[in-house]
Amino acid sequence: MKKIFILGASGSIGENALSVIDSNKEKFELIGISVNSNVEKANQIIKKYSPKYIYIFDKLAKDNLLKTENAVIFEDEKELSDVFNSTDVDIIISAISGFAGIKSTFHAAKSGKKILLANKESIVAGGSLLMKMVRENNTELVPIDSEHNAIFQCLPESKSTEDVKQIIITASGGPFHGKNIDELNDIGVQDALKHPNWKMGAKISIDSATLVNKCLELIEACYLFNMDENFFELIIHPESIIHSIVTFKDGSSICQMSNPDMRVPIANALSHEKRLSIPFQPINFNNLKLNFESFPNDRAEIVNLAREVVREDSSKGIYFNAANEVAVENFLKDRIKFREIYEVILRTFDTKEMSKFNSIEDIFEIDQEARNISNMVIKSLI
Ligand code: NDP
Ligand code: MG
Repeated sequence: MKKIFILGASGSIGENALSVIDSNKEKFELIGISVNSNVEKANQIIKKYSPKYIYIFDKLAKDNLLKTENAVIFEDEKELSDVFNSTDVDIIISAISGFAGIKSTFHAAKSGKKILLANKESIVAGGSLLMKMVRENNTELVPIDSEHNAIFQCLPESKSTEDVKQIIITASGGPFHGKNIDELNDIGVQDALKHPNWKMGAKISIDSATLVNKCLELIEACYLFNMDENFFELIIHPESIIHSIVTFKDGSSICQMSNPDMRVPIANALSHEKRLSIPFQPINFNNLKLNFESFPNDRAEIVNLAREVVREDSSKGIYFNAANEVAVENFLKDRIKFREIYEVILRTFDTKEMSKFNSIEDIFEIDQEARNISNMVIKSLI
């Protein structure tokens, strides 16, 4: 029986992970959860699974959590790290959304356990440091972002990339697929939240609508697989059936396919050595038509920024992530226009020489600096 701790259990990835556990009750036990403030969802999970550990970020919400026998409710980060390091935890699923997940992901990286990584913002902001911690502590890191899990599945068992010629990361194109950037002036929040293929949290839904999600994923892929950005190409594939394609030096291309369902990459990451059984909708190959298009040229400037982040491996990732998060938060609150998300990222980038960072404290300092600049850019827009 493997004991799983889910960070961000009340979210969309959390829900999919719980569903995979439900289908494999004899193999996995939910030992711990974290939520921010969603007490209602937390209490449903507590009632059903009786996890031993409950980590809640919002101190005020803590009092309303259901108290069960032997459950430990805590809000102290040091305790979280102790729990991760204890024999009570085998697998940690990192599925908090945004930069808010970075500290707990770093604690998971130091634990020497197995981590399933969904929280892409922590690798975009702290990629080199995070991967260093993973290596130094013999932590096993398996991606559950569908494109990265696809690459993980296409690579040989050793995960060696020496025979790889190119990797194509697919993108659905989001709710505004086919529209050029000039047609995105008057996009409302509700329209941007409506993803055609995936049901996800608000932040990543907006990232998918702007296509900035693919920029984050490009950076994520470079760090995860320790490869240069020029190995990666982005391609629009509206059906979201092929999740990525790896082409090897000998001319073979291998892809991973499934209907869009996050339980598939989660199940693979939980047990890639021995496949789990989950209920899924099989692909109907009869008359299946798959389409591919070039990634829109009018987003080249932002993609090039992402490529620059990886090439320079400096604080630029922290800037990229912070500027995007601040812009998305402000768009969701109707303070800036959809198109201005790009402007906030580009103008935040323009402002400063980037530096190296060596610690999580450095990352927090630079993140705050970037957020201040992004907020100033936003003030100038409204
Ligand atoms: P959701 O918004 O659905 O869930 C976010 C989770 O994080 C919730 O449990 C939430 O708690 C918690 N959380 C939010 N803010 C904080 C905070 N400040 N402190 C602590 N916890 C917080 O997000 P998703 O599940 O969609 O996404 C999670 C991560 O996975 C993101 O990084 C996303 O990019 C990545 N991902 C998601 C995919 C998907 O299909 N959803 C696909 C690939 C990657 P509460 O409910 O209490 O607010
Ligand atoms: Mg993805």
